[in-house]
Amino acid sequence: FDPSGHRKQSKAEAKEILAEATELLAEYQMRLAAQDTYGVVMVLQAMDAAGKDGTIRHVMSGVNPQGVQVSSFKVPSSEDLNHDYLWRYARKLPERGNIGIFNRSYYEEVLVVRVHPQILAAQKIPAKLKDRGIWNRRFREINDWEHYLTDQGYRFVKLFLNVSKEEQRYRFLSRIDDGDKNWKFSANDSKERAYWDDYQKAFSEILSRTSTPWAPWYVILADDKPFARVAAAGVLAHTLIDIDPRYPAVSKEARDALQVQKAALEAEAPAGAAPDPYAAALAEKAAEKAAEKAGGKKADKAEKAEKAGKKGKKA
Ligand code: AMP
Ligand code: MG
Repeated sequence: FDPSGHRKQSKAEAKEILAEATELLAEYQMRLAAQDTYGVVMVLQAMDAAGKDGTIRHVMSGVNPQGVQVSSFKVPSSEDLNHDYLWRYARKLPERGNIGIFNRSYYEEVLVVRVHPQILAAQKIPAKLKDRGIWNRRFREINDWEHYLTDQGYRFVKLFLNVSKEEQRYRFLSRIDDGDKNWKFSANDSKERAYWDDYQKAFSEILSRTSTPWAPWYVILADDKPFARVAAAGVLAHTLIDIDPRYPAVSKEARDALQVQKAALEAEAPAGAAPDPYAAALAEKAAEKAAEKAGGKKADKAEKAEKAGKKGKKA
């Protein structure tokens, strides 16, 4: 991809790549679940209307819902505020074998809380700890927490969907002009837009202070939705490929035990039924595939012969 955001791929191509990627993600998610050892946390941060929800919907479209937990973090509840600031995020960590998606995350604690000092003022931490050093401490605490979790078998996929101010204006207007999208628009969104520069500054510090070897940030250009989705799927796929989860190996003893069970089930076959109808179906499928392959080879040969013929003519 061209990093300037000018798309070389067509929309159709991006769709095709995304379809392939989601298939791969589905397979890897099954392996991740079967292995039951690593957990993946996908963190999504962005300005409003950058496409967090659409990205989640498209990227996870092929994945078994049982292996995915999406958590959307909004304004903290009074129960949240009665705990340390990481508490509510720790409670939503995915189980081993699962993918947890954080739609907004603990990064709001160094983002919206930083942009609006009154939010920090309302947090119930001791007053003397609300000094200017608090952001440095939070960066360190977040890095340490991610490091600790990495040592526990978690892998982080941190995505910043970077939408431009002009594209946000366009998308806000679409949410106002298009009645079906009205529900997506809140007056608060325009209020936050007024703090655009403060957010950009906070984001840039987050990127430089919390991109670590164990939990790096990925900045994704978000003005082009199909591109952003492919990029997000790519980063997640890369992480899963790196984990390389495997289906647990079954021991020789366990396999022998299965054969004993198989014999018992075969002995239960009613009169006239195949002892193992599944094996019969499997053999039939394999035969069909072999026939297809043979046919395909013939077609390939014919095509090659034709091409060779054309070359011959040219020469
Ligand atoms: P939305 O995701 O559009 O439903 O909006 C959720 C709102 O909750 C956003 O305005 C966030 O900035 C806000 N929010 C999320 N996390 C926090 C937090 N830790 N402290 C204060 N506000 C938050
Ligand atoms: Mg919103």
